[in-house]
Amino acid sequence: MTKPPKTAITPIRAEDYPEWYQQIIKASDLAEKSPVRGCMVIKPWGYALWENIVHGMDDMFKATGVKNAYFPLFIPLSFLEKEAEHVEGFAKECAVVTHHRLEKNAQGGLVPAGELAEPLVVRPTSETIIGDSFSKWVSSYRDLPILINQWANVVRWEMRTRIFLRTSEFLWQEGHTAHATAEEAVERTHMMLDVYARFVENFLAIPVIRGRKTPTERFPGAVDTLCIEAMMQDRKALQAGTSHFLGQNFAVASGIRFQNAREEEEFAWTTSWGSSTRLIGGLIMTHSDDDGLVLPPRIASAHVVLLPIYRAEADHQRVMDYTTQLAADLRTQRYHDRSIQVEIDDRDIGGARGWDWVKKGIPLRIEIGPKDIEKDALFVGRRDRGPREKTSIPRTRFLQEVTAMLDDIQHLLYERARMFQETHTHKLDDRKAFEAYFTPRDSERPEIHGGFALSHWCGDARCEKQIKEKLNVTIRCIPMETIREEGGCVCCGRPSSERVVWAKAY
Ligand SMILES: [Zn+2]
Repeated sequence: MTKPPKTAITPIRAEDYPEWYQQIIKASDLAEKSPVRGCMVIKPWGYALWENIVHGMDDMFKATGVKNAYFPLFIPLSFLEKEAEHVEGFAKECAVVTHHRLEKNAQGGLVPAGELAEPLVVRPTSETIIGDSFSKWVSSYRDLPILINQWANVVRWEMRTRIFLRTSEFLWQEGHTAHATAEEAVERTHMMLDVYARFVENFLAIPVIRGRKTPTERFPGAVDTLCIEAMMQDRKALQAGTSHFLGQNFAVASGIRFQNAREEEEFAWTTSWGSSTRLIGGLIMTHSDDDGLVLPPRIASAHVVLLPIYRAEADHQRVMDYTTQLAADLRTQRYHDRSIQVEIDDRDIGGARGWDWVKKGIPLRIEIGPKDIEKDALFVGRRDRGPREKTSIPRTRFLQEVTAMLDDIQHLLYERARMFQETHTHKLDDRKAFEAYFTPRDSERPEIHGGFALSHWCGDARCEKQIKEKLNVTIRCIPMETIREEGGCVCCGRPSSERVVWAKAY
């Protein structure tokens, strides 16, 4: 007999965080690498997370008047050429279709043939092709605003990829709106950032900082990029959603014109905003521990797993009947916007079964054996507590309290993540202290370095560049809730009137 491992995942976070992340994905059965480099196969336990993200977010979009539509995967090359800054931003990572059929060669292999007159770009994002449609849909101010979202996949040919965080193909939503005035478009840009912030905080239990990007970090072609930034457990930042005010740049490029109330012709003002399967990477890195994935109940692939236990064959039927009835009772209850999702696992594999569900991060594990049935009680384990910590609870009380228990876990995970972010956020004014903060010195205790630094910045892109080259640290955002405060740029010492968020980032 081997001793049970101290933790279900090796390596643990403190040993090798990137490898821990890969092992969590494997152990929880979320996704796997595909035969195509940089792409991923999302397995059912992982795809359920995406479906819950889609449902939750889609409802919030629709509540603001947004409607869904679908635009083509292929974008004519000439469309990308229309907006110079935009094409510059994406040119290096575009997949391009140049042929439209295959032919057999002399060796019996297949080769591309039938060259296209104009190459097609596999969408890296859809501003240009949606702009083309908008130009046909809009002629009068009465046609505005247009509020469109699409759920789709996009391709960005990434050189260094990591499942969920950076993949060549990923799933996302992209919202695109057109407005008659700049004020209305700016208001929409903020409104959608607020949707992202509320979704990520309430569903994913990830606390975020709302802010705006510096010109260096802006979306190619945007006038202003707003973002939400979260802190992962390795204290690096993850951008969890962005909302762009595009001014009239894309309207001019795509010809989105309208007649205003005074019958003058004007260009529309547009926005775009997106979030992706990257959120799942953020979810994993915010909550999971050395025993596996930890899922906040509001986004969890399922809420409860029932684990029937019987040694004697005579108990089998009785235990299974009790289990099935409990599952049915649970499924009649609602937890927020869906019914309680129950899994039953009756595999006869001993202790590995319970550990499987710990690793999969399900919020509640319920053991049901003949002795529990006699007492009409359940043996309940919560994923926010230690894996061996379980409590016996009368069945009727459990049924009454299950939704409150799930909410409690949800709240606790959020609080834990908020505390973590707070603990690892520091105001740093001195360049030396700033550099030391971002330079891991003591490899025995990597946890004492890094996080978010709230430091002054003079507004000069050269200072950003210098810090990035030296420390690989960037300005994640200029926070919305900034406290105006005089100080000196952490890089050059010149005067600055507000602190910005600096961090290493995914
Ligand atoms: Zn400076």
